[in-house]
Amino acid sequence: MVLGNAFGIPGITVDTHFGRLARRFGWTLSEDPVQIEFDVAELFVPRDWTMLSHRVVFHGRRVCHSRKPACGACPVANWCPSYGLGETDPAKAARLLKYELAPGSEPLLAQLLAETHRAAEIRMESQKRVP
Ligand code: SF4
Repeated sequence: MVLGNAFGIPGITVDTHFGRLARRFGWTLSEDPVQIEFDVAELFVPRDWTMLSHRVVFHGRRVCHSRKPACGACPVANWCPSYGLGETDPAKAARLLKYELAPGSEPLLAQLLAETHRAAEIRMESQKRVP
């Protein structure tokens, strides 16, 4: 992620969250980080690898937990082949969310979304400058 963030070199970071979610999303069947990276790299264009890594890890930490995925409060439930693996009742699932998404953390979430939006704008502006 450092190479991707600081130097614009695309990379897929396979940590425990990324590996778990890649399997739940059906992107790979493997438990091996190297194989997971290879399988996912086949599915996405390199320019998306770094942000994909960030977003998947973000989702794994806050929503799609190892033991208790919050399926009923999951924004990608509609297309996730593993929907139902965790709690599907929306109210119960919402209580499983963590960090910025946890109940009572709305100001933190608003700040995060604003920063994310600004970061996306900066990235789009910088991509426009690439010939
Ligand atoms: S629907 Fe459930 S298993 Fe699928 S990504 Fe969301 S929380 Fe994870």
